Amino acid sequence: MKELLEWNPGWARPGPGGASWRGSGRTASRRISLRSAALVRLYFPCCRNPDAWFNLQGMKDFELYQQILGLVEPWRVESVALKPQEREIEVRVGFADTLWGCPQCQQRMQIHDYEERRWRHLDSCQFKTIIVSRVPNVRCPEHGSQTVAVPWAEKYTRFTRLFERLAIDVMLECSITGACSILGMSWDEADGIKQRAVKRGLARKVPAVMARLCVDEKGMGRGQNYLTIVAQVTEQQTTVEYVGEDRNQASLDAFWETLTTEQLAGVEAVAMDMWEPYVRSTLVHLPGAASKIVHDPFHLVKYMNEAVNEVRKSEHRRLQAQGDDTLKSTRQLWLYGMENVPAKHAQRFDEVKELNLQTSRAWAIKEVFRSFWLCPGAKQAERYFGKWYDWAIRSRLAPVKKVARMCKAHLSNILTFFVHRLTNGPIEGLNNKIQGLIKKAFGYRNKERFKSDIFFHLGGLDLYPAQ
Ligand SMILES: [Zn+2]
Repeated sequence: MKELLEWNPGWARPGPGGASWRGSGRTASRRISLRSAALVRLYFPCCRNPDAWFNLQGMKDFELYQQILGLVEPWRVESVALKPQEREIEVRVGFADTLWGCPQCQQRMQIHDYEERRWRHLDSCQFKTIIVSRVPNVRCPEHGSQTVAVPWAEKYTRFTRLFERLAIDVMLECSITGACSILGMSWDEADGIKQRAVKRGLARKVPAVMARLCVDEKGMGRGQNYLTIVAQVTEQQTTVEYVGEDRNQASLDAFWETLTTEQLAGVEAVAMDMWEPYVRSTLVHLPGAASKIVHDPFHLVKYMNEAVNEVRKSEHRRLQAQGDDTLKSTRQLWLYGMENVPAKHAQRFDEVKELNLQTSRAWAIKEVFRSFWLCPGAKQAERYFGKWYDWAIRSRLAPVKKVARMCKAHLSNILTFFVHRLTNGPIEGLNNKIQGLIKKAFGYRNKERFKSDIFFHLGGLDLYPAQ
């Protein structure tokens, strides 16, 4: 009783609704009588129908819950019990005598059996709210024994639709562990809601034309377990459409094979790294692929950065052997784009890059390569590349020459950039988001879980249970 008074002294007194004590076992349960619409609005923000708030004066507790749950015949709330000790409200739902439809064929038939089940609903105030109901079983001559569908929850779940919606929203914003502590649920329960949401979302997808795609691989940390990721790029967003095991030709073949003829014909451009298995797979499956594959700036500039870094590492080792520390702690400076070097490092960087170092030469070649993407069209770009290539190949810097040769070998699909203009942003953004997921989950040990998290967060799926 004390706890009850602390919770809300205002409506602990028996009211005109005839609130009365009901001893139910060891738990002192009490029927709640709500006195004013204002209180109701304050304590039951979960109500989704504002019209229902009118005329609540004098409404009985179970009528209130009947409205909150949106129950219609034959379902009705039979009782509402408050269990202060468990900090729980138990809403018992029953049903009127009726014939029930088989969930498969809708044929009406008599109840064969019942099964008592419990669902967690949105909290009422800070009280866990549980719906308890006997669910009818019917025995259909065609489909056998079937449990009828309840309107407040999907099949095989212990949560109501509204609770699942909330849990999905919370999990979209924070880690699963965070969601568990906010919602007071176990990791397995939260994960179950998430897996169901992804399954539901994927099942709802309808094949649509995807004009611009990007393909990328994603390593899962040590052991170099790779996934192949295909994303659709639109002006509004980048959504992951496919996640495949590994990063070989078959990994991408499996994606192309899911597309209809119309979808294949609708693909205009596919951005990817110069990774032969992906190129081969695309050439085999996508009509006109030769002019649609785009080796995007994101990957190419990454290669050039790696080459600069290799040159710096070996030069630094050589200089250090002679007691020269010029290149110490400069790793990141060479990797910034020229315009992005932070002000606090600008002076140091200006000094070091003016020295006659192999690293400064490699850096200059990388910077000039970055400007390649600013060419107005394919023709100018081809000329620009020719000049840059001659310079790079005469640089006597092995890592730089290697990247230059690789680019030359793939030049035709680098020049497609100037036709399709698939920019860096979406691919880089997707990469960062996936990296964020890995961080949030403290690395993934389980590939399947990583895959479903990618779809959950980046799939652009309709995750919510049907209303
Ligand atoms: Zn049936």
